[in-house]
Amino acid sequence: MMQQSTLDPTDAVLRRVVGAGDVFFERVRHGQFLRIVDLEGNQAADTLFYNAEDTAERYSAVDTMREQRNIYLGVGTTLMSTEGRAMLRIVADTVGRHDTLGGACASESNTVRYDLERRHMHSCRDSWMLAVVLNEACGLTKRDITHNINFFMNVPVTPDGVLTFEDGLSGPGKYVEMCADMDVLVLISNCPQLNNPCNGYNPTPIEVLVWDPA
Ligand SMILES: [Zn+2]
Repeated sequence: MMQQSTLDPTDAVLRRVVGAGDVFFERVRHGQFLRIVDLEGNQAADTLFYNAEDTAERYSAVDTMREQRNIYLGVGTTLMSTEGRAMLRIVADTVGRHDTLGGACASESNTVRYDLERRHMHSCRDSWMLAVVLNEACGLTKRDITHNINFFMNVPVTPDGVLTFEDGLSGPGKYVEMCADMDVLVLISNCPQLNNPCNGYNPTPIEVLVWDPA
């Protein structure tokens, strides 16, 4: 389902372009709105959420899919935590659906999926681990990096249950927007992957915007 937002980018309290392969790591407060924009289209924004007050509580793909009885994320999805609580709600979306099954790219999966010589290539998991190490005060370690959301990414499940990575549904300027139901840490890896069509073999920038409650 498509749903346009009524929020005006000129009213945003935070507005940041995140380059291909870079990270966004910020706190978003309860009631604030968070928008991620696919500036050039066909990009993947690999995202993790943590309860800012207790980072042991974090986004749970399993609880989210079970509660909404749907494997795809879109308008109306409540992003659930490992404690079964609402973290954020998707309130606007111009893409149609987002993935939470495919996982994030890692040096290990690069070697399994593509080639041993791809091991050194930059991955989302490396970006997250670097962000966690450089922000020690957040209290996270690499053990806290678990299943994620791939905003803008198209990972359909076929009728016989096979997971496939397909060309994106997203396009230039398309976005997804959420409202936070608790204070959250938002950790986004703007995917640097060069080996599959999740970002058109051509990683491009995204923009992240935050608004205060109306
Ligand atoms: Zn990635």
